[in-house]
Order: sequence, then C-alpha cells, then structure tokens
Amino acid sequence: MAQEPGAATGEEWTPAATPYWWDAAPPEDSRVELPARVDVAIVGSGFAGLSAALEAARAGATTLVLDAGPLGGGASSRSGGMVSYGQKLVLTEALKGLPVARQVAALEDSKATFEFLKDLVSREGLDADLQLCGRFFGAFAPSHLETLRRNAETLHRRIGVTIRVLSRAEQHEEVGSAYFHGGFVVEEYGGLHPAKLNRALRDAARRAGATLASHARVLSTMRAGAGHVLRTERGEVRADQVLFATNGYTDGAAPWLARRVLPVASYQVATEPLPPGLMDRLVPRRRMVTDSRRELTYARPSPDGTRILFGCRPRAIDADPPRLAGRLRARMLRIWPELAGLRITHAWGGFVGMTADRIAHVAEKDGVLHAAGCNGNGVALMTFLGWHAAQLMLGRTNRRAFFADIPFPALPAPARAPGFVALASAAYHLRDFADNPGEVARERLGRAAPASTQQRKKETTP
Ligand SMILES: Cc1cc2nc3c(=O)[nH]c(=O)nc-3n(C[C@H](O)[C@H](O)[C@H](O)COP(=O)(O)OP(=O)(O)OC[C@H]3O[C@@H](n4cnc5c(N)ncnc54)[C@H](O)[C@@H]3O)c2cc1C
Repeated sequence: MAQEPGAATGEEWTPAATPYWWDAAPPEDSRVELPARVDVAIVGSGFAGLSAALEAARAGATTLVLDAGPLGGGASSRSGGMVSYGQKLVLTEALKGLPVARQVAALEDSKATFEFLKDLVSREGLDADLQLCGRFFGAFAPSHLETLRRNAETLHRRIGVTIRVLSRAEQHEEVGSAYFHGGFVVEEYGGLHPAKLNRALRDAARRAGATLASHARVLSTMRAGAGHVLRTERGEVRADQVLFATNGYTDGAAPWLARRVLPVASYQVATEPLPPGLMDRLVPRRRMVTDSRRELTYARPSPDGTRILFGCRPRAIDADPPRLAGRLRARMLRIWPELAGLRITHAWGGFVGMTADRIAHVAEKDGVLHAAGCNGNGVALMTFLGWHAAQLMLGRTNRRAFFADIPFPALPAPARAPGFVALASAAYHLRDFADNPGEVARERLGRAAPASTQQRKKETTP
C-alpha cells in the first residue's frame, strides 16, 4: 500500500488510537440498572447532556442520562478544548440576513455561553484545567490578513473582546512560526481539558442525584399519555420529559434531529513531551492557535504545557485516525518544523454536528427537546444549551435564549446523501489550494517548512 505523505513507519512510532485526554480522564463504564420511570431522561453524556442533568437533578427532578457507549465517549472528550464565543457566528457570517436586533441577541447569548461556562467551573469547583490564555488566529494566505483584520475589528465592535492585529513580522511574539501571514489575538479566549471537564460534570451530576447509564443506546421514543416511553437496548424507561443531546452522534432514535444535523469528522494528534525550552519558542504565551483555512487547522499546548496537540481535517475521505496521523504531522511540521524529531503518541477523531444555518439549536418536536448543532465549536455553547434545555423542560425560565428561539431548518436533501461530506471537504481543500497553492502543494509532498524566522535569527546571532 502507498505510504501517506508524511507518515512515519511503524518502527518510528505507532500512535495510540485514543485521545490524549483519555490518559488523564477516560470515558466510563456505568452499566447501572435502568429505573422504570423518571421525571427527565437525557440521551447523550457529553457536555450538553451532563449539564442538563446537573440542572434537572438540582431542581429536584429524578434524572437519568443514557449513553449508547461509555459515558463521555463522544465529541466532548475528543475535543480540542478551545473555549471561545461569538467568533464562529461572526466569522462564518451565520447571522447575515437576520434583523439587527436578532443579531445582537445572538451575540449576547453567545457571550452568555462563555460566562456560563466560566461561572459553572468556578461555582462547582470543576477540575477542568480552564486557562484563559487567549487565541491567535493566523492568516493562511497573504490575502487572508486583510479579512482577518476586518473580522478582528468586527469581533471587538460587536462582542467587546480585546484584539491585537499582528503583521507577519510581529506574529513571532505569539507563535514561533513563519507559516502564517500575520493574524490577530483575542485575549479573552482560552482552553481547557475537555475529558476532565466531562468527568467533573459526571461527578457533579451524580452528586446532585442524577443516574448515569452507559451502554444503553436509546432505540426510539414514543408518546405515552403526558410523557414518553424510551425503548433502549437495556429495556424500557418512562419519562415525563426527554432531551436528545446527541449532536454529531445523532442516530435513527431521533429521526427529526438526524435530518437537521450533519456529522463531520475532525482529527487530532498529540506529540510526545517537548524538550525543555521548545514550547517557549513555539507558543511563547501558550495561546490556542487556529488559522483561516476553510479546512481549519487548530493547535494548542496541552494544559500542562508539555505537548503540542494538533487538529484538522487532513483530507476529504475519512479514515482511521492513526492512518491519517502522517498527514496531520506533515501539516504540523509545516508550521513548526522543530517538531520533526518528536514522536506522535496519540491520534484520534470525533464527530461534530453541522447545521444548515451554521447555528446551534434547542428545539422541541412532538414533546421531545433537542440540543444540538455545535458546528465545531461546542465546549461553552453545548454546556450552556444543555443547562438552558433543562430550564425549559422544567419551566424554570420564561426567557428563551436566541438558540431556542429560531426555527431549526432541515438539511437540504443533497447534504444528507452519501458522499456529501467528502465532496464538500474536497471543495474546501480546492479553495484552500486556490488561496495558497504553494503551501498546499508543499504540505502534500510532506516537505519540511522553512525554519521559523525566530530560529533563523538565532542561528545568525553569535
Ligand atoms: C476532534 C474535535 C475537536 C473539537 N475541538 C473543539 C474545540 O477546540 N472547541 C470547541 O468549542 N469545540 C470543539 N469541538 C466540538 C465540541 O467538542 C462539541 O461541540 C461538544 O463536545 C458536543 O457536546 P455534546 O454534549 O453536544 O455531544 P457529544 O459530546 O458528542 O455527546 C453526544 C453523545 O450522544 C450519545 N448518543 C448518540 N445517540 C445516542 C442514542 N441513540 N442513545 C444513547 N446515546 C446516544 C453518543 O454516544 C455521545 O456520547 C471539537 C469536536 C471534535 C470531534
């Protein structure tokens, strides 16, 4: 079989096919007996499901979380763990065409998701390594810098974040790489350890009285009087209220939601620990790092500052994460060639849930609530939406957040056809190629990038 560009041979390294995050906080088996009846049943044990469970159980409702696999085995423990608000709505122009008042409401509620997460972590004492270390957005092509500059100004104007635009010459204060063509920093954003957050939410939900059941796939739901019957792989459960918090893992148990959420895979690798001093050169302020490619690149130091975690969708066709590791590594080395000698220790993937309008939703259909559609940016957002969904189910608020107050459009038929994600992804790759053909070609050949200018400076300094 032909070797993937940039792939190393088996003798050099064989990455584990599990997330780096799971070393510290693995998903959990919890094959508890299912109660026959509960007030609230929640399908999915990611950030949304657990946050909903915590709120419902605190309010005194008997609460059951059901997951098809181990608890926390979905996107929430596979994530990049970057925390932000507003930027996806602004940068993807998802709000374009909405009346100004609705746009303002959307951005205010987006900010509320971030404030909610920060408050939740501190109020509940969640062990999640939350660090508000800022994020660098790099320009992938020379022509992107002007757009990034405009985006940064829009973010500052519309959501009040502190921004700093950097030329290519200045970017080395933030990222030790010659790869980007300038960029900007948002000081307020940051990152956390997503699997630790998931574990901390499981613990908090249990302490509040919720029952969490793994390996209990829900197969269907049916109205029964004023409530519902959930048919699961492990028997039936009756519930007054049901929430589907299944996002990119939505299956046939929620056919209405499955017509609205498109699962798209994203992949990550982790390096082995860096030698002393190298992180200071590559990411001196320990920022989160993303770029302006259509097929976004995202990278960050691990919360303990020892490793680089690097993510993207490296090709149109999905494959086993360890098989794609070489491609991720090739792209990573284009940014930081200094990492060439380091082993990749973990390679994994997970599914995000995309929507037709690029907006997440809380929506009710036939008496069942759904919170889904992170569009790749759900750490703060889905945690908030789970909490809000629980409040709505229990009648604890009469203010609907923006995300619960807009129609949830179905995906257009072609988007649900087999092969659509590969086609869309190929189109994105082509547009990235059009924007910066030299870079995409070099990456495909797996060639090492030029040394960072910082390193070059060092080499020429006596
Ligand atoms: C590789 C990757 C990197 C990411 N990076 C970032 C990032 O840096 N920043 C950011 O903000 N967001 C990021 N995201 C997105 C973020 O992780 C998700 O938006 C968030 O975790 C979604 O949480 P959730 O609770 O909605 O869904 P999930 O955590 O995906 O949980 C859904 C659960 O539903 C369960 N389920 C599905 N169907 C059934 C059924 N029938 N019965 C029972 N259980 C069922 C699944 O088993 C799964 O455990 C990333 C996602 C991925 C995959």
